[in-house]
Amino acid sequence: MTRVLKFGGTSMGSVENIKNVAGIIKSYKDKGDDIVVVVSAMSGETNRLISLANSFATDPNPAEIDTLLSSGERVSSSLLSICLNEMGIKAISLSGRRAGIMTDSHHTTAKIDSIDDTNIRQLLKEKTMPIVAGFQGFADDKVTTLGRGGSDLTAVAIAGSIEADLCEIYTDVDGIYTTDPRIVPNARKLEQISYDEMLELSNLGAKVLQSRSVELAKKLDVKLVSRSSFAPNETGTTITREENIVEQPIVSGIAVDDDQIRVGIYKVIDQPGIAGEIFSKLADDGISVDMIVQTVGVDGKTDLDFTVPTAQIKQTKICMKNFKDECKYIDYNENISKVSVVGLGMKSNTGVASKAFTALANSGINIRIISTSEIKISMIIDKDKSTKAVQALHDIYKLGI
Ligand code: ADP
Ligand code: ASP
Ligand code: MG
Repeated sequence: MTRVLKFGGTSMGSVENIKNVAGIIKSYKDKGDDIVVVVSAMSGETNRLISLANSFATDPNPAEIDTLLSSGERVSSSLLSICLNEMGIKAISLSGRRAGIMTDSHHTTAKIDSIDDTNIRQLLKEKTMPIVAGFQGFADDKVTTLGRGGSDLTAVAIAGSIEADLCEIYTDVDGIYTTDPRIVPNARKLEQISYDEMLELSNLGAKVLQSRSVELAKKLDVKLVSRSSFAPNETGTTITREENIVEQPIVSGIAVDDDQIRVGIYKVIDQPGIAGEIFSKLADDGISVDMIVQTVGVDGKTDLDFTVPTAQIKQTKICMKNFKDECKYIDYNENISKVSVVGLGMKSNTGVASKAFTALANSGINIRIISTSEIKISMIIDKDKSTKAVQALHDIYKLGI
């Protein structure tokens, strides 16, 4: 059987933890499996490198940032390879380039264009284990990175390319829970979850799997399992097609995203075309706008609210300068959180949304913005209430153990 095993930052975070990872790899190797390993940088390393760069410049050159950040994964892949060879397992570390990961040239958020898996296949043939540095690729002869959490994407892309039987994402929790188990202690582990629900949970803040990796796993039909390197005997959670899910609950999980900013524009002239112009320009600038709300116009004026990721606040402010005449009163609020309820069963059940609103009202939490889709309800609330809100939602749908 061919497996891609991906180990995240905490799993690779110390000498002891790397030895533990090597032990897990050895147990599969002993069974005779073909294995490709993908690793993240040691925990905290990517953030440490970003803050080092920021001590010289507030807006460092993105190509230089990619060169800098990619070093974290190269260090951990080499360390693991050294450790495995010492244990008698033939392994070799590969940078994103040597692993054949070709991307577009959008530094810091590059998309994978294609994979040339010749090196990986050749190494497997020679019974040498490739240890791939995650999160990175190359374009026009330069290193690129795939966005935060991007090692998950590297693992899925390689699994798809070499047609692996399984792609296992090892992290510090033993699977996908009904909500972040660090926030809600009675969160319950799910045996299975559909790609679509997982994609919504990831998009809406559950960083346990990077959302683009889930999207790609669905597209390439990669069998994905989330599990823990600290409890390798636990079975984990399988992310699979909707039709494979045995028991489909109405609500599968609650996500929370504390990294959103609410942009409020007040007294915008209420005439056709303004919203179109603003949102087209934001889209052109690559800003991911979510949860747009426009209030009913009064006296020819209206209010417009939307949210953007905290990481894009600088670009948003620059972009909004193009509309300084139309948008004189603009306010950026960082003290918000987005809480979301996700479940495929919402498609065919009524009353799911009203339950969420009741739960928050009963906890004295004011909802500022609501948006819904077929399988999710998202609500913007004050940031200091986010933990209470997640707990209240988790309780009302009886998701806990
Ligand atoms: P890694 O460094 O291994 O990639 P991450 O920190 O990216 O790990 O993701 C793992 C974390 O995701 C967990 O520690 C957990 O706090 C968080 N998390 C958020 N939502 C969930 C969820 N629904 N189920 C499991 N973990 C979750
Ligand atoms: N090291 C990168 C990050 O911290 C990529 C990853 O861990 O997946 O975002
Ligand atoms: Mg991660």
